[in-house]
Amino acid sequence: MSLEVNQELNLRVHAFIGIGANLGDARTTVSKACRDVGQLPGTKLLRQSSLYASAPHEATGPDFVNAVVEISTMLTPQNLLNHVHQLEANEARTRPYRNAPRTLDLDILLYGDQVIQTPTLTVPHPRMNQRAFVLVPLAEIAPDRVSESQLAQVRAQSISRISFG
Ligand code: ATP
Ligand code: CA
Ligand code: CA
Repeated sequence: MSLEVNQELNLRVHAFIGIGANLGDARTTVSKACRDVGQLPGTKLLRQSSLYASAPHEATGPDFVNAVVEISTMLTPQNLLNHVHQLEANEARTRPYRNAPRTLDLDILLYGDQVIQTPTLTVPHPRMNQRAFVLVPLAEIAPDRVSESQLAQVRAQSISRISFG
């Protein structure tokens, strides 16, 4: 479907976005990004996790600030991706090399129950189950989406809650 939003069909989908930053004022940037995602066209913020601090995992640089939000959206998956890329660009996100430190990263973790595999988008996010900084905030706001055994697999990764959502 090439529509900007699924508006004509009035289709709303619950999606989860993982947010991270480890350059600049990461805490402020992540808090602002949570609000900004909820203000995208055809989109409402439903739930927002606490902020978490995590040590870089398969990455370098300062500690990360992370959060996960749940939205209700009429944006198609590709248009949601385009919009979150624009929010990253607004924070001057650059990609000098894989897993480089970043001012803002927004990943689509889940889009309803849909399985999506295109050249630009894979949902569920293919690495989310390996990452405490995704699973711990996701479990906080959507405990039905994360099992105890998934959490057990990332228990060795350091993560701590730094503010309450
Ligand atoms: P990772 O994907 O391992 O978390 P990253 O977030 O640092 O790494 P990016 O450089 O931000 O990777 O993204 C590279 C590309 O991944 C994006 O241009 C986008 O097209 C693609 N991509 C595929 N699936 C997703 C998804 N579920 N959410 C966000 N981007 C995705
Ligand atoms: Ca990412
Ligand atoms: Ca990303």
